[in-house]
Amino acid sequence: MPGPDIGSPFGSGTFLLIGRNRHASLQSTAGHETRKLRDTKGRVAKKLRISVTDRCNFACLFCMPEKEKVKWIPQEEILGFDEVERITRVLASLGIEKVRVTGGEPLLRRDIEQLVRRLTSIPGIRSLDMTSNGWHLERKAEALREAGLRGVTVSLHSLKSERFAKISGVDALPRVLRGIDRALEVGLSPVKVNSVAIRGYNDDEILDLVEYARERRISIRFIEFMPLDGLGMWSYDKVVGGKEIIDKVSEKYPLRPQGRGTAETSALWKFVDGRGDLGLITPMSDPFCDDCDRVRLTADGKLLSCLFDTEYYDLRHLVRNGGTDEDLAVSILNAVWKKPEGVGHMPWIKDGWAKPRNMNAIGG
Ligand code: SAM
Repeated sequence: MPGPDIGSPFGSGTFLLIGRNRHASLQSTAGHETRKLRDTKGRVAKKLRISVTDRCNFACLFCMPEKEKVKWIPQEEILGFDEVERITRVLASLGIEKVRVTGGEPLLRRDIEQLVRRLTSIPGIRSLDMTSNGWHLERKAEALREAGLRGVTVSLHSLKSERFAKISGVDALPRVLRGIDRALEVGLSPVKVNSVAIRGYNDDEILDLVEYARERRISIRFIEFMPLDGLGMWSYDKVVGGKEIIDKVSEKYPLRPQGRGTAETSALWKFVDGRGDLGLITPMSDPFCDDCDRVRLTADGKLLSCLFDTEYYDLRHLVRNGGTDEDLAVSILNAVWKKPEGVGHMPWIKDGWAKPRNMNAIGG
């Protein structure tokens, strides 16, 4: 089998692999002129999720561990904006076209709009979106729009104040809703809502959340609960599967299936009456790894080719120790080359008996 597209006018490079195989190194080989982020299954990465911080002012029970048990990334290990920009430039030169900024909570990062501006001006980056808990959105939406942010996805798991506080750890529902309204007002587009439906916690609110989204003509996405939670509360019986959601919603609001676009995370359903759409993100009941085109950069500069992978590639080490852009490119190409086949091939994830890390530390 041929290797990754490491062809380089500069000859060989090395990369750091941390995880199952600590500090393995690979030599690059001469080869193709146009290099792509291709993996052994022929998938080509085009999208990048950047976690800009592992900190969050919420403590969603399906995401964060108990606050006192969180091992925060030391501040000095978090990438600076120059470092994020540099790595993104290299990734863009290898074919990354779309970026989503996430966290932790990305709006906790001071002057985040400056990073947004810098990333949107990188040649090859066609769009930049953000996933946020909405807490700072009312205040930040306009500056983010001006800096070039395209759209925002806000996590909203309940429309009942008390329950929202119980799930997220903060009594913040009205403020988050104002943030969503402000995002719409300033013209961020698309504005979407993400909900994780968990049996026994908020599954009785699926229709309410749908109605909230329909009234505002915003897209709602239901994400199946994944075993990446910090409290260890995940079990398969708490997962509300995509099919169940569609059955429930379509009883009241008929839906027409649109399918899942190539490399999209969600299968789309349009409301027959034309009032918006609903997406299902089904990593547990119907994984969509076969055409996955995403890579992730953690706040401390690790490249992950898969949300569930246990291996990561330490780009920060290269950036801070004199690595050239070519060294970075070689590491990235190798990391993507070894992308796992998918969650369907990871019984330890599917059955919930081991997890690589908590969601806040990866960037969802
Ligand atoms: N702080 C931001 C937010 O609240 O949206 C961005 C980070 S958060 C980790 C990104 C997304 O991951 C959110 O929509 C959240 O609901 C989702 N998420 C977190 N833990 C999850 C889990 N265990 N299963 C499924 N989705 C999860």
